[in-house]
Amino acid sequence: MTKDKKNPNELLYITSGEMYQPYRYTLSSLSGRFLTEIKEKKKFLGVKCPECGRVYVPPRAVCGRCYARMNEMVQVSDEGEVVACAIVEFGFVDPSTGIERPVPYGTAFIRLDGADTALSHFLDCVDREKLKVGARVRAVFEEERTGSIMDIKHFEVID
Ligand SMILES: [Zn+2]
Repeated sequence: MTKDKKNPNELLYITSGEMYQPYRYTLSSLSGRFLTEIKEKKKFLGVKCPECGRVYVPPRAVCGRCYARMNEMVQVSDEGEVVACAIVEFGFVDPSTGIERPVPYGTAFIRLDGADTALSHFLDCVDREKLKVGARVRAVFEEERTGSIMDIKHFEVID
C-alpha cells in the first residue's frame, strides 16, 4: 500500500504485485503417526513432554519450553475450544487443491481437550453467531481419507 503524495489526506490504496515467500516445516515420524491415526481411526494423537508434561497437538519432536526430545504419543479428544478465529470473506486459491475456496469460511486455532497447544484448521461457517473465542467445537472428518491434514473436513460448533 502506498499513499498518494499529491494529496496527503487521500486514503491508502492497494497496488497489485506478486510475492514469493518460501518456508519449511519439518515433519517428524510423530507427524506420520498423527496423520495415520486420523486416517484410520478418526482420532487425534498428541505427544507428551517427559520433562514438563505439556501435550503438543499436532505433535513435534522437541518441546518448545524445555527442549526435551518427545516420543510418548497420547490420545486427545476430537473436541476442544476455539482460542482464536476469523471469518474469511474473500476468495483465494487453496494451495492444497488448486481450486478457489468458497467464501465465507472460518479459520481457527483450536485447543483439543487434553492438549496444551492449538491446531490450526477450518471452521464450519453455518452459524456465524456461534463462531467466537471459547466456542466448543468437534472435528468433522472426510468420508474418504488419504493421510492428509485435510482428512479433517472442518470443525463444527457443538454448543
Ligand atoms: Zn517440556
